[in-house]
Amino acid sequence: MSAATDAPPLLVVDSLVKHFPVRGGLLLRQRGVVHAVDGVSLHVRAGETLGLVGESGCGKSTLGRAILWLDPPDTGTVHLAGQDLRQRSRQEIRALRQKMQIVFQDPYESLNSRHTIGQILTEPYLIHRLGSAAERGRWVDELLTRVGLPGDARDRYPHEFSGGQRQRVGIARALALEPQLIVCDEAVSALDVSVQAQILNLLLQLQRELGLALLFIAHDLAVVKHVSDRIAVMYLGRIVETATSHAINTTPRHPYTKALLSAIPVPDPCHTARRVLLTGDVPSPIDPPPGCRFHTRCVHAIDRCRSEVPHLEDIGAGASVACHRWRDLT
Ligand code: SF4
Repeated sequence: MSAATDAPPLLVVDSLVKHFPVRGGLLLRQRGVVHAVDGVSLHVRAGETLGLVGESGCGKSTLGRAILWLDPPDTGTVHLAGQDLRQRSRQEIRALRQKMQIVFQDPYESLNSRHTIGQILTEPYLIHRLGSAAERGRWVDELLTRVGLPGDARDRYPHEFSGGQRQRVGIARALALEPQLIVCDEAVSALDVSVQAQILNLLLQLQRELGLALLFIAHDLAVVKHVSDRIAVMYLGRIVETATSHAINTTPRHPYTKALLSAIPVPDPCHTARRVLLTGDVPSPIDPPPGCRFHTRCVHAIDRCRSEVPHLEDIGAGASVACHRWRDLT
């Protein structure tokens, strides 16, 4: 984790929208639209970790894929190192992928089980036609060392490794092309707690050594606040609060952030803070509530919340919040 607050943003996302049509019936007519991501703006600086947190189904993984142009957004822009991805051809996007990589949640599903670790790690170099066979072999050895795997791992298959080791392979593959940005999409969610800590420490160590920008996507705020410089809280396709990790932890402004924070267990028998219980499930993104999308679960909702969308307001110190009542509730 680095506090590279003076560095210019490496990644700038502006007003990004990604919807998916819902089709049904014999003629597969469009029946609705999933509002997966609805006007998200954010930035990440080189050497910085931005945590993106929210419940399952809030659109955070879709946002990650749209940023990497794996599922290009409907509208909005993504600039990476000053380059507007929308203005780039397919070939240029492919070349830009060297700079932006992803680590997936399930390290087993994301690795080809019929390939050795050596073949998996060589693949990015082959796709981008980099190096001779000898150079690629040397680079694979260096990658294995960097992520803490033994040299003989290159001749073994994914099923021969534990979940944590497989995630190390996933990280090594993401590092192969020396990216500037890595999107970690629930990268530790499938791992045991003790292994989670090892992988998180590895990511932070690599970030320090390589100056990587990380977009760390997870549903668990306890994990996100441990690794992030700043945090963006997402609810039903929209960002509802952004602030430094410290500010989110000590002075959360949005009722949803407060609820997520209060759900984190505190290992202190004297701790008496009241838990803010969220009632009901996240509403369907096919038919999101009007006004503030959180109003169906917010105990502080007033009439205005049901009709008027609260916009993300800059509240100073690099923080922003989307709530009509954040001042009353502070
Ligand atoms: Fe709750 Fe209203 Fe704020 Fe939304 S705008 S979080 S409903 S108080």
